[in-house]
Amino acid sequence: MKAIHRCIVLGRRHLTPRTVRLTISGPSLIGLRPHPAQDIEVLLTTAPGSRVKRRYTIRHARPQDGQWDVDAVLHANGGPGSTWAAHAEPGSPVEVVGPRGKLQLRPADGHLFVGDEASLPAIAALTEALSSDQDTTAVIETDSGADRLPVAAGRVRWLERSGRPPGDPESLLTAVERELRARRYGQVYVLAEARVTRVVRELVHGAGVRPECVFAKGYWTADARPAVAPGTPA
Ligand SMILES: Cc1cc2nc3c(=O)[nH]c(=O)nc-3n(C[C@H](O)[C@H](O)[C@H](O)COP(=O)(O)OP(=O)(O)OC[C@H]3O[C@@H](n4cnc5c(N)ncnc54)[C@H](O)[C@@H]3O)c2cc1C
Repeated sequence: MKAIHRCIVLGRRHLTPRTVRLTISGPSLIGLRPHPAQDIEVLLTTAPGSRVKRRYTIRHARPQDGQWDVDAVLHANGGPGSTWAAHAEPGSPVEVVGPRGKLQLRPADGHLFVGDEASLPAIAALTEALSSDQDTTAVIETDSGADRLPVAAGRVRWLERSGRPPGDPESLLTAVERELRARRYGQVYVLAEARVTRVVRELVHGAGVRPECVFAKGYWTADARPAVAPGTPA
């Protein structure tokens, strides 16, 4: 089992109205050098007292100071992770496990990143880690333009939901299909809601990108809405 880092929240600030940067710090983080877009599990206790884990990307690490930044999105009906991010004050304790995660940049002719608010920190970290002569495109869907953060890709296609609920694959599918027709990508990373990730990955495979050149990971799961039986009042 991986070691638990006992940290404190050192700082917090809003990057956008819905995204909070939390800096955590702890002696056991000193000297650790995570790969770009590796993540932590934040160990949380819910109000009824259950222990849960939520994953957040290590956006920056300062190994000499034992500090990591995570950029957490505050969701309208979010759970323990969102609640922690909304209320964690400087000085409060937090336990985390990491760095973890298998995502690694691989050399390729053309990198395509596909994601949403939750994977924006990972896509920002990954595109920064690629040298500027690499051909990179990011296709990112957010609720609105207010959710955007800087991404170091050569081309960034921002999509807005404009009121549609998150977790609907349609506009990402259309945009990714267009990208795949426009140029060749040697490596594709799909980091989005679980079902969206699945259908975009299928599209990418169908367009001829070899499976070993596609890294696809569901970053979160949209509510599975219970089917309403016929005749049942909604
Ligand atoms: C490797 C990895 C790295 C990640 N890095 C980050 C990161 O850096 N920043 C970040 O903000 N998130 C990140 N995520 C996503 C984050 O872990 C999930 O969004 C998580 O579900 C949030 O937990 P929660 O307790 O707030 O909500 P949950 O208890 O999981 O869910 C409660 C409700 O909130 C909804 N919800 C949860 N997440 C989202 C979402 N992203 N968009 C819309 N609705 C949502 C659910 O559908 C559900 O209705 C990462 C996930 C993974 C796997």
